[in-house]
Amino acid sequence: MARLGTADQTNGRSATSSKAAPADARPRNRTLLLQTLHTNGPQSRADLARHSGLTATTVSAVTAELIADGLIAEVGRKAITSAGKPATLLGVEPDARHVVALDLSDDDVIEAAVVNLAGKIVARHSQARDGETGKKAAAAIVRFTREIVRSLDRPLLGVGCATPGIVDDHGVVLTAAHVKWTDEPLAAKLTAAVNVPCYVANDANAAVLAEYGALETPIENLLLVRVGGGVGAGIVIGGELFVGDQFAAGEIGHVVVDDEGAQCKCGRRGCLEAVVSAPLLAQRLNGVGEGDRARHLEFSGRHLGIVLASLVGALNLSQIVLSGPMDLLDDRFRTAAIETIRNRTFPTVGQHVDVRFSSLGDDGVLLGAAALVLRNELGIV
Ligand SMILES: [Zn+2]
Repeated sequence: MARLGTADQTNGRSATSSKAAPADARPRNRTLLLQTLHTNGPQSRADLARHSGLTATTVSAVTAELIADGLIAEVGRKAITSAGKPATLLGVEPDARHVVALDLSDDDVIEAAVVNLAGKIVARHSQARDGETGKKAAAAIVRFTREIVRSLDRPLLGVGCATPGIVDDHGVVLTAAHVKWTDEPLAAKLTAAVNVPCYVANDANAAVLAEYGALETPIENLLLVRVGGGVGAGIVIGGELFVGDQFAAGEIGHVVVDDEGAQCKCGRRGCLEAVVSAPLLAQRLNGVGEGDRARHLEFSGRHLGIVLASLVGALNLSQIVLSGPMDLLDDRFRTAAIETIRNRTFPTVGQHVDVRFSSLGDDGVLLGAAALVLRNELGIV
């Protein structure tokens, strides 16, 4: 399985290489302890040893290194127990490093955010796109990123960028119709400009990583459908992002759902994107009465459900998240999608399917862009 989430796009290092030599243990142990503190909150060194399976000596050495780097700090003392003096608690320093996250999924505006190590947005920036395409669009994004980086008051961990289109595991945008990119080496350009690790991924793939990281109860498999200028899906299987053979897994927008349907920008008729995209929904719902609104939402939800039924049938997925403009999508859309999936799949599979709205609202893509950096640089999921 291709694992975009663990490939270092900056220099081609791979975190998925099999058995680690002893010299590789330290970075892995750092990641393990950071992840443990990130997931479980402040802990004593003894708790960390218990949760991570590392020896007390290793925990002591690695935490000393993380404290020296400013990534974790002593944050208080554990309540006194009969065992003796209270142990010191260690916690992640959320503002030790900041990440710049970019969301290129809007046709008119580049949205950006500064995100801390706890995954919280601490500042927002946006810039009009001015219809630029090709190299000019890439240059404008690099310029904008450099400006944001200059405004930071904390060390920069990296830059994450989420864009519609197909992106390979080196951050090259193989194709992105909305900005007319072909083989655009965006991650390399950003890295050259700001001199930190930069990661680029498809917007639905980024969003599903953020959603997966925000789950309260861990699950293995998750599908996120992003309704934006087009329609795309991000798929996590077995806890890892699944990107497919040509990095195009989840490109469901141009699956034909209606042979007699409207003309799509790809040249064919009746693609899912020609029924469900955000601009189309906005146009159809603009100024219509309640009855027509319900009819349009149910029609769109049903057609999305037709495509999702095949995915659910093939992969036996039960958790589906919808991400998109909440002023356009509502429960009638969601209900139509879920009923269609259930009606078109084997009952044993379909009855377990749940479709819900994203818990991250409109920030899912930005937080996903930040998650690319946090996962790759610190192992924080
Ligand atoms: Zn199409």
